[in-house]
Amino acid sequence: TRVVCLVRRPDGEPAPADFAVEERPLPPLAEGQLLVRNLYMSVDPSMRGRLESTEKHYTHNFTPGSPLDGRALGVVEESRCPSVPPGSFVRHQLGWRERAVLDPADTDGAGRIDPELAPLPTWLGLLGQTGFTAYVGLARIAEVRPGDTVFVSAAAGAVGSAAGQFARMLGAERVIGTAGGPDKCALLVKEFGYDAAADYRAEPVREALARLAPEGIDVYFDNVGGEQLAAALHALRPGGRVALCGMMSQFGGDRRSADINQLIQAVLKRLTLRGFIVRDHEDLRPEFESRVADWLRSGDVLARETVVDGLENAPEALLSLLAGGNVGKMLVRLDGP
Ligand code: NDP
Repeated sequence: TRVVCLVRRPDGEPAPADFAVEERPLPPLAEGQLLVRNLYMSVDPSMRGRLESTEKHYTHNFTPGSPLDGRALGVVEESRCPSVPPGSFVRHQLGWRERAVLDPADTDGAGRIDPELAPLPTWLGLLGQTGFTAYVGLARIAEVRPGDTVFVSAAAGAVGSAAGQFARMLGAERVIGTAGGPDKCALLVKEFGYDAAADYRAEPVREALARLAPEGIDVYFDNVGGEQLAAALHALRPGGRVALCGMMSQFGGDRRSADINQLIQAVLKRLTLRGFIVRDHEDLRPEFESRVADWLRSGDVLARETVVDGLENAPEALLSLLAGGNVGKMLVRLDGP
């Protein structure tokens, strides 16, 4: 089967030549296993850290000469697992390849999805790990309450566009977001129901927050860290809460370590800053799936994806995601058999 391999670790910023599409044999199907043809693959910022040898995140790093992996959704072509017949749709971790043999541990009921309930891409986006991350961060980590003013960064991205919409459904009174460029800012208000948006490239975020939330904010859902986290600490009201979800601004050379000095704000205002890894909160998944499926059905929230076609274009999709080329969830769609 065709797979995307890491050729070498990036020297600075990742580049297309760091990746290659190669042919690899598939192992024979053992008892309990499934042969799956991938239809959609998730493209995630966390892959950036996994390209390096040093930075260890919450999962293993990639190895030069070996295929990448990541979340994906596929259709079962052959099954030696009676509870998952051919034709079933399953979510799993062996993306970045056309076909995969899934181990019994990956083939329990939890991986199966119902295409009648929502379109396939939504199962990797709003109803997948992406939406779940937004939900956990707001509902459990930041404990969004009715009346809150909520600020979300990388607000037009996958997690951010879900977070803005979910914050409103959880009772937030005012939701503001930042994104790169005027087009994304317009979308935040027009499509994702944000009350106001600011372009972090065009205006210091500290000034934008003073303008858009003069009374301060109660919750910050942080996808980017750095300057925006510092700005949020200034804007937070006493007792405010911060869900630390990700640090997009801290990849590569853009490390503004001086911003850490702003943490005195957390002391002065008795803030709660809490980091989280979504996989520690599986107990919340049934509640998440049933609520978000309802919101999707009623049209109260919308799922938006940026879809790139073809396995060979997957590395470009990752580079584009890191540079802000996506609105909503970045996915790669694989064509035909
Ligand atoms: P996104 O769809 O949000 O894509 C990343 C976005 O980051 C880009 O579109 C870009 O948008 C923005 N960006 C890139 N560089 C910068 C920068 N220097 N400053 C500000 N924004 C920047 O990705 P996801 O929704 O998948 O992930 C969002 C965040 O959530 C990431 O930090 C990720 O690591 C984190 N995450 C955390 C999880 C957890 O368990 N804690 C689970 C899943 C994701 P723009 O054009 O606006 O710059």
